[in-house]
Amino acid sequence: MTSRATAQRLDDADPLAHAREHFELPPGVVYLDGNSLGAMPGGVPGALRRTVQQQWRDHLIKGWTDDGWLAAPMRIGDRVGRLIGAAPGRTVTGDSTSVQVFNAVTTAARLRPDRKVILCDTDGFPTDRYLTLSVARLLGMQVRQAAMGGIGAALDEYGQEVAVVLGSPVDFRTGEVFDIAAITAKAHQAGAVTVWDLCHAAGALPLALEADGVDLAVGCGYKFLCGGPGAPAYIYVAERHRAAADQPLTGWLSHATPFEMAADYRPAEDMSRFRIGAPHVLSLSALDAALDVFDRVTVEDIRAKNIRLGRFFIECFDERLAGRGFDLVTPREDDRRGSQVTLSHPDASRLMDDLAARGVIGDVRPPTLLRFGFNSLYVSYSDIHRAVTVLADLAEPDGSRREPTESARRLLGESHVAQ
Ligand SMILES: *Cc1c(COP(=O)(O)O)cnc(C)c1O
Repeated sequence: MTSRATAQRLDDADPLAHAREHFELPPGVVYLDGNSLGAMPGGVPGALRRTVQQQWRDHLIKGWTDDGWLAAPMRIGDRVGRLIGAAPGRTVTGDSTSVQVFNAVTTAARLRPDRKVILCDTDGFPTDRYLTLSVARLLGMQVRQAAMGGIGAALDEYGQEVAVVLGSPVDFRTGEVFDIAAITAKAHQAGAVTVWDLCHAAGALPLALEADGVDLAVGCGYKFLCGGPGAPAYIYVAERHRAAADQPLTGWLSHATPFEMAADYRPAEDMSRFRIGAPHVLSLSALDAALDVFDRVTVEDIRAKNIRLGRFFIECFDERLAGRGFDLVTPREDDRRGSQVTLSHPDASRLMDDLAARGVIGDVRPPTLLRFGFNSLYVSYSDIHRAVTVLADLAEPDGSRREPTESARRLLGESHVAQ
């Protein structure tokens, strides 16, 4: 049974319920879009104010050293590293995921100069594919594409030509989870280097980059990590590759001795080699404050809860939405499902607009997918119950969509009626 009382009982027994206190959410909103932009941790405004008013205003140029601005990308990189199973000194923050994808794929390709193919995931986030095509043009390589589930078969077929495998452990549309360790091992058997895009996994699933033998990985700071809009991304490089890693964006802060302003380029020995230019100090201070929340919880507890949230959503779906024009796109098996549930419906965009007008925020991936992301740190079982209740209310028994009633129109106000 998926009654409101059941949801309340699950919330009462939730060992992570305390984490919600560390976020500020608008009252009355059910926020299921944290896989696109995480909610704001309550510590962020104070951190930004301190950086601006105590550090920048009062310390001026001395902030680079006295306030640790220069070291921040490495220090905060290690904080992210803890969440993804990386040893210290192997993760650095900076720029956007797109920039880091470019850097990681180019670096990986240069580790296998005798090979000509980059194998990438057909269904991955588009920026990964767009950048891979550009890297291939720059380096005179070819791109082959396969669905994540078909990467193994593609490696069987032409693995000997493959320099780089770029994949995502969680499909951003369907939420399906793929096995980093198994695909990495298969790529290594073929002699290829792996690049993993962790955007939809970090902060939501336990990751073990060292144990899984991952070569390079990238990810963003603003989804499950809640670092704020445009938060710095990060890149991880395995220790065994660092000395040979020839990253393409050789900005001054990747130099071994940047402040000597030397005429010749000499890359840093440590992970600073993957820095580019001046760190985004304001954005980093927001990300740093957001990561404080993760010091109070474990990724295992986060995962245990998002599995249960997904299961509860699917139970609610089975009881109240199935057969009414909705299909479940996300796998039902707990270990094949990331921290989201995706439904399909022919009228997805209008349904999502109507949900938003009733305070339930998810997102649409055109044309038919309705995506609901669960950040275990602030989403409750009652939130899910309310989301499905509102959605069921919007859907007709025969699967078509019901127009809002007159009283609902009044509640929704003029702006919605005008849409
Ligand atoms: C969100 C996301 C990105 C975003 O890239 P940005 O350059 O940070 O905007 C990249 N890859 C994946 C898989 C994503 O989910």
